[in-house]
Amino acid sequence: MPTPPDARVALVTGSTSGIGAAIARRLARDGYAVVIHGRRARSDAEANRAEIGAVDYIAADLADAAQASRLIAELLQRHGRLDVLVNNAGESVRIPHADLKAATPAVWRRMMDVNVIAPWVLVAEAEAALRRSAETGRPACIINIGTHAAVRPKGGSIPYAASKAALHHATRLLALTLAPAIRVNGVAPGLVDTPMSAGWDAAYELWNTRSPMKRVAQPDDIADLAAALIANDYVTGEIVIADGGLNLT
Ligand code: NAD
Repeated sequence: MPTPPDARVALVTGSTSGIGAAIARRLARDGYAVVIHGRRARSDAEANRAEIGAVDYIAADLADAAQASRLIAELLQRHGRLDVLVNNAGESVRIPHADLKAATPAVWRRMMDVNVIAPWVLVAEAEAALRRSAETGRPACIINIGTHAAVRPKGGSIPYAASKAALHHATRLLALTLAPAIRVNGVAPGLVDTPMSAGWDAAYELWNTRSPMKRVAQPDDIADLAAALIANDYVTGEIVIADGGLNLT
C-alpha cells in the first residue's frame, strides 16, 4: 500500500503477534502509516498487514545485524521517512536462575543479539531519518519494550532479564544523547497475555492473585501506554513499568 503524503511513518518490530501487533493496530488507528515487521515471508504476513491496517510489511531476522540494517534501508526506500520506531521484537528463554551452566555463552549471545544489539542497530540506522522527522516540528520518538524483570531481580532467566536491563539503560543513555530531536522511552511490562507467555502458569497465578490489579495485562494495555508516550512531545528517558502494581507487593 502506498504511504499517504505527509503521513507520519511508524515502524513496529515483531508486530505480527502479541504486544507488537496491538501497538501497530493502535498507531494505525491514530493515523500513522504503520510498517509492521516479522521473520516470515511477505506473502505469509499479508493477512496480518491487512488486519492491522498497516501500509507495509518487511521481513528481517533481527538476530542478524545485517538484516536489521537492511530493514531500515528498505523502509526508507519504500516510504521516504521514519517518525516513530518501536523496538518491540524480543526473545525470552526460560532457565532456572540457579542452573548457571544451562545459561551458556550461546544463550547469552542470542539474548544480547536480539534484545539489545538489534534495537541498537535499528536506532543507529534510523537516526538520520528520525532527525529529519524532528525538522517537521515535533520530536521523533523511539519506544523500547523492556520488562519488569529488568527492574527487579525476577524473570524467566538471568540472560533474558540482564539483556533487557541493558536495553533499559541504553534507553536512558540514548534519551540523553539524542535529545531534543529524538525522544527515547521504555515500557516495562509485567506479565502480558501473548504467545510468548503461553504456558507460564505460575506467573499467571501470581498476577491473578497477588498483583493489585488482580489480572495479567492484555496487549492493548501495553499499546495504550506506548501510544500515550508517542503522543506526548516532552517525556524522555523514562522506563514506565506496566505490571498492574505487582512491584509494590
Ligand atoms: P510475541 O512472541 O507475540 O512477540 C515477539 C515478537 O518478536 C514476535 O513477533 C517475534 O517474531 C519477534 N521476534 C523475536 N525474535 C526475533 C528475531 N530474531 N527477528 C525478528 N523478530 C523476532 O511476544 P510478546 O509478549 O508480544 O513480546 C513482545 C515484547 O514484549 C518482547 O520484547 C518481550 O520480551 C516483551 N515482554 C513480553 C512480556 C509478556 O509477558 N508477554 C512481558 C514483558 C516483556
